This record gives sequence, C-alpha cells and structure tokens, in this order.
Amino acid sequence: MSASAHGEGKSFTSLVADKGGRGEAPGAGLIEELVLANHILFREGVVDGFGHVSVRHDKRPDRFLLARNMAPALVGPDDILEFDFDGNPVNSNGRAVYIERFIHAEVFRARPDAMAVIHSHSPAVVPFSLVKSSPLRPICHMSGFLGEEVPNFEIRDHAGDSSDLLITNSRLGAALAKTLGGCNCALMRGHGSTIVGPSIREAVFRAVYTEVNARLQSEALRLGEPTYLTEGEARVSAANIASQINRAWDFWRMRAEGKL
Ligand SMILES: [Zn+2]
Repeated sequence: MSASAHGEGKSFTSLVADKGGRGEAPGAGLIEELVLANHILFREGVVDGFGHVSVRHDKRPDRFLLARNMAPALVGPDDILEFDFDGNPVNSNGRAVYIERFIHAEVFRARPDAMAVIHSHSPAVVPFSLVKSSPLRPICHMSGFLGEEVPNFEIRDHAGDSSDLLITNSRLGAALAKTLGGCNCALMRGHGSTIVGPSIREAVFRAVYTEVNARLQSEALRLGEPTYLTEGEARVSAANIASQINRAWDFWRMRAEGKL
C-alpha cells in the first residue's frame, strides 16, 4: 500500500529527510529485506495479524526500522518507520505505531550484537511459557541456537497481576531485555516470544525454527522423555546451520511471493 493511501503523501525517504536530511536514510535493500521478512514470517506461520519484525538502522546504530501498526502480511516499503531507542518514531506523520515497539527498542539498546528482533505469538511456543516443568529446549539439529535453556519472562514480576501482558513502555522492555540476556530467544509467559539475530535472515530462520522445535518437542513429550541436544551439540549444530540460511531464505521468499 502506498504512503499516499494513508493520506500523508510522502515516501519513507522524504520522511527521514524531514528530520534533517543528513543523508541518514536507510539503504533501500535493507527496507526491501525487512518487508520480505514480514511476508515470510506470515507465510511460515510465525505471525498472523499480530507480531512484528525490526532491523537495526544500517547507518544509525542507535535507531531501528519497524513497520507502522498493521498486519505483517500487508507491510510495504512505505509502511516502514524509523524509531529511536526510547520507542519514539522519527516521523510517523500521524500513522499509528505498534504498542510493543519497546521490545525492539530495549533489546537493540541492550544487545549491540542484535541486528534484527522478532516478536511473535507463534502458537506452538506459547505452551512452553506456561508450564515451568517443561522448558523449551533444542530437540533437533535445526534449533541448536536455542542453547541449553530458553529464559522465560514473567511480566507479573514487573507489572503486577492485573496487566494486559504487553510490553507497553521502556521499563518493561528493559526488563524483558534483561531476561533475554545473551540468549537468542526469550519466552514471554502467556504471550509469546522475542528472538534476536545478527541479520534479518538469521532472525527469521530462528523464529521459524523456534516454532518448529516447539511442535516437535510437544510431540516428543507425548511419547515420553525426549533426549535433548547437549550444550556441545547445540553449539556446533547452530554454527553449521548458520551457513545454510540463504538456502531456506530463497525458498521462503519464493513461497511468500506465491511462486511455489
Ligand atoms: Zn505481543
């Protein structure tokens, strides 16, 4: 959908120029990849009408790019906005922004290595945020990035027992980032998960395979006590699979574009 369709008649590039025109517009390739990530995450069942993906600005590491408030499957280049780490849009020009943008802001602030952040409510993962005796753990060679243990954010510890469970401000975002620590994935009790990656592609890969791992682990638990990856198996398999991510990305791209 074009920017003019939202009644403001300016491209994303011109919105950035409005802020000072210092040649700090993100690369067009980065925006294109972020738009595609939105579509892939929908097509692969990670997000539905909700959930979002962001990327660190390629020329301003203290800022990030995230769509305006809309379903990921419908995101186009003109819907991508720029934010600072306090969750303020550089220039939304009146467009609504995601309530939970503070997840992205505080994770980018806390994790200089994170280049992309994905927050979703992918359905197979949520049960593992609920049952403390069944933590999410890597169960196959595709999901070694989960590491030995996936932390679980309990929002009641920070927002009491009457919150809406959403990360609606910087304080809650910082608490979530602290729970995430140096891990690649954090569960959020009764809500979903937040995943980081060193690139958009790797973050998307992790989000897809976190959901796959959760499905496989649930099935295995129905049969009995699973044999999980050791710390060494998780580490080595994660390093090896990272070199194969473009293979999956190219396939997911074709599928998201309706060519398969
Ligand atoms: Zn959420």
